Amino acid sequence: MISKLKNTLLEILFPIRCVGCGEEGEWFCGSCASRVELNQKQFCPICWQENLGGRVCMDCRGSSLDGLRVAGSYQKNPELAKAIQTLKYKFSDNLAKNLGEILSQSITQKNYDGARVVSFIPLHQKRLRWRGFNQAELLAQTVSQNLNLPLAESLLRQKNTSQQAKLSRQERMQNLRDAFALHPDFSAKNKIVILVDDVASTSTTLLEAAQVLKKNGAKEVWGLVLARG
Ligand SMILES: [Zn+2]
Ligand SMILES: [Zn+2]
Repeated sequence: MISKLKNTLLEILFPIRCVGCGEEGEWFCGSCASRVELNQKQFCPICWQENLGGRVCMDCRGSSLDGLRVAGSYQKNPELAKAIQTLKYKFSDNLAKNLGEILSQSITQKNYDGARVVSFIPLHQKRLRWRGFNQAELLAQTVSQNLNLPLAESLLRQKNTSQQAKLSRQERMQNLRDAFALHPDFSAKNKIVILVDDVASTSTTLLEAAQVLKKNGAKEVWGLVLARG
């Protein structure tokens, strides 16, 4: 009750405004979300050469990740960057849903050969407790509903990796080694897994996560992110 009152007071003092149009009431309103321009071109997640539908190119075959779909770009949609940043710190069903819609639209476009399970990059327990929610999981919920595919918790994060963004590529790889383990309740065998995350600055996190799923028998692993961070 008290916290509800506190929230209401905070909202009166600092009203929630859309990061796109400034309209009061939502962090990222439906009409701004629907105006996000979806990427028409997709790229190989290893060498970043343009490639059909985001599938790993011939030169990079053998990677743990089979492909990556990036929904939008910060250059074309600066408000998307603000919305993603907001989702990291504000728990908002509505914001997660509007961003999840964008992800879903990106993956139902042509060149996508149907998958079976929607999953997400997990947070370490410590980080999850501190933040209270995993934004990738919230996004994956909407994608799973929209595509009518089951949502699975496929991985555990067993290492509390430090902030990836500040590290070099080599340091990222080192930092992420053995970061993930298969979730004890998940069977990856013969599954096609769509791994949702908010952004992918490089593909290292997705590659590490995909490797664990592949080692455990997954048939294909695709990444699905809102933008390249
Ligand atoms: Zn708006
Ligand atoms: Zn390639």
